[in-house]
Amino acid sequence: MTVHFDDLLAEVRHSNTEVLWRGTFREYYERVKQDPSIVQNAHQRLYNAITRHGIEEVDTSSDKRLFRIYGGRARKILRYNFFEPEFYGLDLAIMRIMEFLKAAASGGEESRQILYFVGPVGSGKTSLLDHMKLALEMAPPFYALEGCPVHEEPLHLVPKDLRRRWSDVLGVAASNYQGHLCPVCKQRLRDEFHGEFADYPVIQRRFSGDEGVGIGILPPSDENSMDVSLLIGRENLGLIGKYPENDARVLEFDGALNRGNRGIVDLYELNKNPVPLLLPLLSATQEKRYRAPGQHPMIYFDGVLVAHSNETEFERFKTDKRNEALVDRMVPIKFRYSRQVSDIRRILEKVVVRDASFTATDGTPAHLAPGTLDVCALFTELTILHDSNKVDLLTKVKLYDGQDVAEQSATEKPVDIRELFEEAGSKEGLDGFSTRFATKAMGAALARTPDCRCVTPVQVMEVLSEFIHDYDLPPEQREHLDDTVLKGIVRRWYLREVLREHIAMGFIHAYEESAEQMWQEYLEHVLAYNMREQVRDAKTHELEEPSEDLMSAMERPIGIRNKAQADEFRSQIASFVARRRQHGQTISFKEHERIREAVKRRLFSSVSDYTRVISRGAIKTADDQERYDRMVETMVHDHGYCPVCVDVVLRFAHNHNLFQE
Ligand SMILES: [Zn+2]
Ligand SMILES: [Zn+2]
Repeated sequence: MTVHFDDLLAEVRHSNTEVLWRGTFREYYERVKQDPSIVQNAHQRLYNAITRHGIEEVDTSSDKRLFRIYGGRARKILRYNFFEPEFYGLDLAIMRIMEFLKAAASGGEESRQILYFVGPVGSGKTSLLDHMKLALEMAPPFYALEGCPVHEEPLHLVPKDLRRRWSDVLGVAASNYQGHLCPVCKQRLRDEFHGEFADYPVIQRRFSGDEGVGIGILPPSDENSMDVSLLIGRENLGLIGKYPENDARVLEFDGALNRGNRGIVDLYELNKNPVPLLLPLLSATQEKRYRAPGQHPMIYFDGVLVAHSNETEFERFKTDKRNEALVDRMVPIKFRYSRQVSDIRRILEKVVVRDASFTATDGTPAHLAPGTLDVCALFTELTILHDSNKVDLLTKVKLYDGQDVAEQSATEKPVDIRELFEEAGSKEGLDGFSTRFATKAMGAALARTPDCRCVTPVQVMEVLSEFIHDYDLPPEQREHLDDTVLKGIVRRWYLREVLREHIAMGFIHAYEESAEQMWQEYLEHVLAYNMREQVRDAKTHELEEPSEDLMSAMERPIGIRNKAQADEFRSQIASFVARRRQHGQTISFKEHERIREAVKRRLFSSVSDYTRVISRGAIKTADDQERYDRMVETMVHDHGYCPVCVDVVLRFAHNHNLFQE
């Protein structure tokens, strides 16, 4: 469909002139009677703004990976769709926040407390809070008294001693509209309406961070720039002479508590503010009201207060005696770097692929070679995890990620993830590098390639190493990160578990006939073995016993070590083949996962010089050229390489003697 300029213009006009309802309090009363749910306190409204996008209840026992991550415990976890596509690894923090909002919504003690997000830089505190604000901005409009500087609930017009009666008639809990009129509305009701509130105008408003409607921000200030008006608003000195003494019209409500009334007040780096500035917050939580500027009466407050800072700053704030009362009102929510490598990978993918949109110089999306994000995620994760005495770091990464690592440690007792958590203590996840370190490295690596067309793990690892040396770190930590983590674990993992896999699959393709032959031969012996028959030797045509050497050469590399295991595996193979044959299929080695693995490994140990195939420079015959081409084709087609990166990684594999270990 072609979209014309006028269509676009019409859309703009439509979104600019969205008509919000305006009426009298009498009409508002009718609206409430029809739908009492339009009267909500701030915590309730925020809770609903998030949950209206849906909640999913997940049972950890229904998903093998989750079950392992949650320490082999069956428990129900709630996933909030609104946060789902954006936030990885924050399940627990989000659940705590939502529990808090739910409790506060019913007017409990929580509604008089401050949420405090504590965690390291880049652990998602700010983005999560921004997303909560977005939930409000996307929510249906709310109702407020017209002209009210703090957008207050229209039912505040009802005198307190009559509210119980009104609540009964309207079906609205009194906790949904606690509070009293602000000085401005109070004065207007008296002067303009002579106390008769039936015709007082009511309007609908939308939450807006830009316009400061229901979303307020308190920036950190210091002793010198300290100004309590940032929180509670001010008296306009220019107007003071114009109106009678104590006239509310001189008030300017542009403080964070004013703007964030009905919604969220964002108190970032709250701890950096001088103590006297924080006093209004104490009354805003304890009494749900704060003093107005000058001699004006107290103002009622209904909002969700959210502070955030890193752990060290929070600890410092806590130990200052003068903050005791405020700290007592705080509910800390711990944010950590994710300890699951696949979450980190997803965060990187989101930043790199979706948000930062890596592009080549011609504007087309740049290519990320297979394994690039994985290498960055693994590196980041390894800077976060603490050493363990029970397992090596790479195994720890896999266990934390819920991967099944039983096979690798078949001889030892499997390690319980709960033991690892216990060993790591409560500090793990609070330090290390945020994902920003790796995204910067990816950006730099891409910029260094000729036309920014493609970036590979090889280039990213080079840049990461440089970054580690440029970073302000103690020498021994620098050495540890570069030598042990990056050049040790990460590079080794990439070579052995990613690149070798990919090349191997290409390689199998290149040597497909040999591979099939190997499998058929093995199968012949296995079937004979199971039937206790003999096989005919291909050359001598004599009948012989099935060759134990031949069979175990295939089985040993995939971890089959004794007769019992071999017997079981061989009978599995026989029945697998029998089932397929019933359906008249020919059976390729590729169809059975463990066989494919076995053939692959066997193939490597039998072809003596791979360099001919994995290194373009070493190709001498047309036959080799064809094999090389087939391998590259498989890597491009099946694993997502492009002609640029396939060349880079093959050279890397060759330089590191990948197949000669
Ligand atoms: Zn008001
Ligand atoms: Zn590429």
